Amino acid sequence: MSQLFRHLPSTDRLLSALEDDPLAPAVPRPLRKDLVTEYLDTLRAAIRDGLLTDPEELEPERLMAGLHALLRRKGGPRFTRVLNATGVVVHTNLGRSLLAPEAMEAVQQACQHYSNLEFDLSTGKRGSRYSHVEDILCRITGAEAALVVNNNAAAVLIVLDTLASGREAVVSRGELIEIGGSFRIPDVMARSGARLVEVGTTNRTHLHDYENAITEETGVLMKVHTSNFRVVGFTKEVTLSELVPLGRAHNLPVIEDLGSGNFFDFAHLGMGEETTVQRSVASGADVVSFSGDKVLGGPQAGIIVGRREIIEKIKRNPLNRALRIDKMTLAALEATMRLYLDIDEARLRVPTLAMITASAQELEAKAVQLAETLRNRLGKAAEVDTCPGASRVGGGAFPERDLPTTLVRIRPMGCSVDALKEALLATTPPLVGRIEDEHFALDPRTLAHEEFEPAAEALAQAIAQAGA
Ligand SMILES: *Cc1c(COP(=O)(O)O)cnc(C)c1O
Repeated sequence: MSQLFRHLPSTDRLLSALEDDPLAPAVPRPLRKDLVTEYLDTLRAAIRDGLLTDPEELEPERLMAGLHALLRRKGGPRFTRVLNATGVVVHTNLGRSLLAPEAMEAVQQACQHYSNLEFDLSTGKRGSRYSHVEDILCRITGAEAALVVNNNAAAVLIVLDTLASGREAVVSRGELIEIGGSFRIPDVMARSGARLVEVGTTNRTHLHDYENAITEETGVLMKVHTSNFRVVGFTKEVTLSELVPLGRAHNLPVIEDLGSGNFFDFAHLGMGEETTVQRSVASGADVVSFSGDKVLGGPQAGIIVGRREIIEKIKRNPLNRALRIDKMTLAALEATMRLYLDIDEARLRVPTLAMITASAQELEAKAVQLAETLRNRLGKAAEVDTCPGASRVGGGAFPERDLPTTLVRIRPMGCSVDALKEALLATTPPLVGRIEDEHFALDPRTLAHEEFEPAAEALAQAIAQAGA
């Protein structure tokens, strides 16, 4: 045993070997030192416990291979790319929307160079960061004015804080929802200082319910998109078009939290239940807010559009400074909005829209190609087939609608499907899919063609790992 201990190289020796090794994973020096120490500690423990008895295992090449693996496992960034094979397009846990190439390019420019972020090039004086996207948002939505904040939760907060702080906000009971990530309408309302007045019942709310709730104290009438929740059966909802005249009659703003919010009218594709932002604005809503990174397919942002006088008031709210968007968001948002100026282009160029609207034939062809790539790479390690399945939009949009897709199914040899699913979380990059009928299933809707080879590689690694 002491013989073995003497074979162990020193920390400094391993560190300088790493310095000289062009293949060593790039890890910042202090982290590298910690990991080398950790590595030597595990080797010492293994020797002490009699698990390591062969001096050959302490040969430099063997040690370097183990050290590389440790550096790769623990020394890399924690925030990392993932292969999304779930078929959920707007997957909040996996980063929601992917940006169009135009938007990525704009972000790169904004990061790499100084910009006119708050500088008016026509006067050479201080400008406003919001002016860059306001016109284009108005043009697309038909609204008089627009403002963008950090996310839609922030948008709802600042709208209520501006219009109803210390006053009452009237909302239907059927719309008092909680969405993922602990966003609850009643809680956000409480934070804004607005007092919630619930009207109607869970399943039915009538116009007279809103009307009867209006008092001296009322600040706004509010509608909330119920996101990933639906009331079905014996139901009655007051539409925005019905609510707007009531608000006008009482001189009260009518506001709508659209949640996902989309500019593209999916009704043309037979996906009819979702309204558009344009329609909400045209219905006469005073303020409409929605997310930038859900179905819209842009960066994380909360977009607020509406009547100029109200938007100006929201802009002057001191909260606006605390909730403001950064330049990368602004760059990505403007580039994405430019794509929306031609809505048919947007359907093809905005990745979120392209994935949601991919045709069944397109997906079937993708599945066949993915299955082929997997069979070639996995050989006898797994059985691979395809079958009809369903994908989801996610992000609270189109909650009960299944989008038809073709799934690629894997049955691994030598390990269970559950073990495979777990092992796939540790591959580089990790692959997230789902289990269906005792198979591991990949939905090609959310996998790009360039990701087929990496997915095959991840599966090969994971099957080897899980079966070991
Ligand atoms: C998603 C959602 C929000 C929150 O939007 P974020 O952009 O995630 O902050 C608010 N309201 C509704 C109805 C939503 O669906």
